[in-house]
Amino acid sequence: MLGARATLCLLLGIAAVIGGGGVMLSRREEQVRHERDREPLMRCASVFQEELDRLGVLYESHLRVVALNASTEVFVIRSEAQRVAGIVQVSVLDPTSGDAARSRGGGPGTERGAEGLHVTVGANPGVRIPMPVFSPPRPWTVRTPLILDAAELLGSGARSGWRTEPAWPLVYWQAVSPRELVVMLLDRAVLETVVTDHLRGMSEAFHVLHWENGAERLRSRSGAEVFSNGAVPGFAPDLVLPLRSRFGDWDLLAWDPRTTRVVYRTGVLVGAGVAAVLVAGLGLILYVQGRRARVLASQRVSFVNRVSHELRTPLTNILLNLDLAADAQEVEEEARPLALVREEVRRLARLIENVLTFSERERRGLRARPGACCPASVVAAVVEQFAAGFERRGMRVETEGLVTDSLLIDGDALAQILANLLSNAEKYAPGGPVQIAMQWDGARLWVRVRDHGPGIPRAAWERVFEPFERLSDHVRDGVTGTGLGLCIARDIARAMGGALRVISSEGGAVFELELPACAVPGMLSVA
Ligand code: ADP
Repeated sequence: MLGARATLCLLLGIAAVIGGGGVMLSRREEQVRHERDREPLMRCASVFQEELDRLGVLYESHLRVVALNASTEVFVIRSEAQRVAGIVQVSVLDPTSGDAARSRGGGPGTERGAEGLHVTVGANPGVRIPMPVFSPPRPWTVRTPLILDAAELLGSGARSGWRTEPAWPLVYWQAVSPRELVVMLLDRAVLETVVTDHLRGMSEAFHVLHWENGAERLRSRSGAEVFSNGAVPGFAPDLVLPLRSRFGDWDLLAWDPRTTRVVYRTGVLVGAGVAAVLVAGLGLILYVQGRRARVLASQRVSFVNRVSHELRTPLTNILLNLDLAADAQEVEEEARPLALVREEVRRLARLIENVLTFSERERRGLRARPGACCPASVVAAVVEQFAAGFERRGMRVETEGLVTDSLLIDGDALAQILANLLSNAEKYAPGGPVQIAMQWDGARLWVRVRDHGPGIPRAAWERVFEPFERLSDHVRDGVTGTGLGLCIARDIARAMGGALRVISSEGGAVFELELPACAVPGMLSVA
C-alpha cells in the first residue's frame, strides 16, 4: 500500500503528465504565407522575355545568311551552317518542279535526287532527321519525308518562315530565288542548351528581384536550371511566369515567404487541463483523508497505550498482593482459587505488556538492553508463571541443556519471548508436554520450544509473525488472542540481533529462537 504522501506525489505526477501531454497534443504548427510584391517578378520575367525575343530575331538573321549562301556550293553550305548553332540539315529544293534544285558539289552527308539536295551538318547526322520534300514520297525513299506544300509556304507572298511541329525538328525556310527554297532543320535540344547558357550569363537581370525573402527559380520546361535563389521548397510554386521562344519554353517560378505559427487546439487543451485538475484534486483529497486516518490511528494507539499504562501499575500491585495472599494460605484447597486468579491476572499482565511493546515498536522501534543474565534462571522464572495453568491443563514442561552461564543478554526481552511462546503452547497445544531445549556455542544461544498440538502449516510459517494475523479467528474456537504475540516476539529477537522462526517438526509446533550471546567477562561458569 502506498502512503498518503506517495499517493499524492504519484497523482500529481500523473496530472503533470496529462497536462504536459495535452499541451503537446493540442500544439499545432501552421505555415502562414506572406504574399510578396509581384512587380519585381514581372519585371524580371519581361527582361528575360525581351532577351528571348531579341535572340529569336538575331538567330533568324543568321539563318537567313546561311540560306542565301546555300545557293552556291555544297561545302559552302556546310561551312556556313556549321557557324550557326543548332542546324542539323540544310536542304535546297525547287518549289516549281518538286525536283532537286541545281546542284553543285557533293560528298558524304549529301543526298541528291528528285526530292532535292540535302546536306546534313555535324559529324554524326542523326538517322531520324527527316527529308523535306514537296512531292509525295516515293516507295524507295529511305528517310522519313517531311512533306512541305510550296503553295502554302509561298502563297501569302512570304519569303521566309518557320514550321514548328512538336514531332519534328524546328524548320526554317527561306526562298532564295523562284526555283530555290532552302529548308533548314534545327535541333531544339542544342538551341535550348545554348539559350539556357546565355540566360545564365544574365545574372544582373535577377537583381531586380532584390533577393526578397522567399525563393525563385528560372528553368527550362525540360528541367535545365538557369538560376535559383533562396531555399527552394518541395511544394508547388505560388507564381509561375512562362517565357516563350522558338528555342523552347522557360518558367520563372516564385515562392512567397512563409513563417511558422504555433496554435493550440482549445478542445484538447481544455480537456487535458480538466483531466489534470481532476487527477490532482483526487490526489489532494486522498492525501487529506490519509492524513486524517493517520492522525486518527495514532490517537487510537496513544489511547490504548495510555490505558495499558494505567492498567499496568494496579495489575502489578494486584499480582504482588495475590502472591502474598497465596503464601499466607496453608490449606491447599483454599489456595487453589487464589492461584486461578493469579494465573488470569498474569495473562492480563502479559497482554498489556504485549500491547505496550507493540506501541513502542510503532513509535520508535524496539531496542535491546543487554545485561548479565542466566538463561536457565529466565526459563525457570517464566515456567513458574505458567505452572498452575499447565498443571490444570495436564501439561508438563521438559527442559534440556539449559545454559547456566552468565551471558550478556537482555533478560526481560528473553523472558517476554519465552512467555509468548509458552502462552501459545498453553492455548493451542493443551494436554501435551512442552519441551524447552537450549544450546550455546560461546557466541550464539539457541532456544527451541516444542509442543505437541496441531502445529503450524508450512504455508503459514511466515504469516503467523505478521501483526494481528491469526490462523483461525473464530471466537467460538474457544481460543482467543490478539495476533500480536509472535509478531512482538520476533521483533524483540531482531532488536537483540537474533531471529525467531518456525522450524519443521513431525508433530506440533517448534519455534527456534537464535540470539547473539557472549559470556559476561569475568564471570565463572556455575555449572
Ligand atoms: P495469538 O495467539 O494472540 O492469536 P500469536 O501472534 O501469538 O497471536 O499467534 C498467531 C497465530 O499463530 C495464532 O492465532 C495461531 O493460529 C498460530 N499459532 C501460534 N502459536 C501456535 C502453536 N504453538 N500451535 C499452533 N498454532 C499456533
